[in-house]
Amino acid sequence: MTRTAVVGAGIVGLAAAHALRARGADVTLYESGPPGGGQSAGQSRIFRHSHEDPRLVALVARSRTLWRQWEQEFGLELISPDGAVAIGAGVEEKLRTLERFAEVPVCRLPPEELHARLPLLAGWTGPAMLDVHGGAIRTLDAVAALVHRLEGSTLREHVLSVRRTGTGSVELRTGTTCETYDHVVLCAGRGTAPLARGAGIDLPVETGAHVRLTFALAAGAPDPGGSAPGTGRGLPTFQDGSGDFGETGVYAAPYPDGRRFSVGLSADTPARPDGGLADPAALAALADRTVAYVRRALPGLDPRPVDHVHCWVTRLPWGDDGVGIWSEDGITALAGHNLFKQAPALGEALAETVLTGGIPGHLHHEEQLGRSAG
Ligand SMILES: Cc1cc2nc3c(=O)[nH]c(=O)nc-3n(C[C@H](O)[C@H](O)[C@H](O)COP(=O)(O)OP(=O)(O)OC[C@H]3O[C@@H](n4cnc5c(N)ncnc54)[C@H](O)[C@@H]3O)c2cc1C
Repeated sequence: MTRTAVVGAGIVGLAAAHALRARGADVTLYESGPPGGGQSAGQSRIFRHSHEDPRLVALVARSRTLWRQWEQEFGLELISPDGAVAIGAGVEEKLRTLERFAEVPVCRLPPEELHARLPLLAGWTGPAMLDVHGGAIRTLDAVAALVHRLEGSTLREHVLSVRRTGTGSVELRTGTTCETYDHVVLCAGRGTAPLARGAGIDLPVETGAHVRLTFALAAGAPDPGGSAPGTGRGLPTFQDGSGDFGETGVYAAPYPDGRRFSVGLSADTPARPDGGLADPAALAALADRTVAYVRRALPGLDPRPVDHVHCWVTRLPWGDDGVGIWSEDGITALAGHNLFKQAPALGEALAETVLTGGIPGHLHHEEQLGRSAG
């Protein structure tokens, strides 16, 4: 039985530990804080198939299948059934890419259909589309279900170092322990690159800070279940690449109660080399821009935020959705951004890397999965 340590109980580390256990590995999961408290924090993420790199669409489609398997296994709805809506000039390009995948149903939304599905939105008559099997990920339920499955295998310890011993094993040191494993998997979010560097693996990770705000429905907006009137449907997730409401990259997702919508800009503010925030005022400015956007574009929301998610985010230089795996002699590391939706497929790929020695699919970092065209 392969003795494996997974560092980090965010959604990716949890998925990797779960997949390794399901394949018979002996797994210990290390987490320094509350599981799901890093980049995976907060309610709701968008599940969307649309990505510039068709290889990433294929990975996400595989992940959608695995999310359904988790739903069955955990007895929970983990992705809302209300789809993912996108608007803006990029819609036709997105549709062209997605129409190559038979398992990814998509359609154009005429203005009246868009309004029926997303009555929170101000008038919009430009291109709009629906990713039918997209939706809002029930992040807190997913994390809780995985944490529960991995109880007894999880240690609340901060990992200080990993290194190869020279005798085929990998040493892992925490504040109070020193253990050796056959394989160590680094899924530590912001902590991955420093741990990997100590083991001689350099990851070109860029770190920034991000803010997302949550807004309640305005008085008189659609009913508490989030249903668009007369449709019996809940609210879809939303991406706005139009620029017509003053911002070009906006994402939004409903909470499970249908009464709140989280909204963020696809922008963050960089960290300094010492890890601190280069310009704390920039984070406040991003929050102000988000509020201004909501006032212009989403009159169905009360523009006073009801909560915030502030988070460090990690990106690879080849694109906003870039993701990659590095694996050398018993140490495997994963890095990337916008990973929540892919987590089940990434967990599966990490387990395969540990157990077979090969990085599957296009996830080897040299393939630059999720590369931006522009
Ligand atoms: C506001 C926001 C909105 C987002 N929206 C979307 C979206 O709509 N769709 C989508 O797919 N993705 C989205 N993302 C991105 C997605 O949430 C992240 O990519 C994903 O959660 C990353 O998970 P992770 O497990 O890799 O990292 P993390 O969740 O950061 O987990 C890493 C864990 O490792 C632990 N750790 C770190 N160092 C150590 C150490 N030395 N020892 C022990 N433990 C350690 C940390 O405490 C942390 O819990 C969003 C992210 C944010 C912040």
